Amino acid sequence: MRCTLCHGDRIAKSAVQERIPVDSDIVLVSLEVLVCQSCGERFYDRATMRRLEEIEDDLAAHKRPLREIGKVMELVSD
Ligand SMILES: [Zn+2]
Repeated sequence: MRCTLCHGDRIAKSAVQERIPVDSDIVLVSLEVLVCQSCGERFYDRATMRRLEEIEDDLAAHKRPLREIGKVMELVSD
């Protein structure tokens, strides 16, 4: 398999965190996907896509337990 972006061939399973926006918050979802080690492009198989869609639907319906780990702040313009 070659990277569709940089055409490199160093693609390996890696732990990543997806950022899913929910209202004005961001939920981090840890998973393993194939990642191009040259440019960082991520590749999702069908099962992973389906899993992410399910999680997005559940998050929109507030059906998943969440733990707050930080705050998101906006720079106040001066
Ligand atoms: Zn690449």
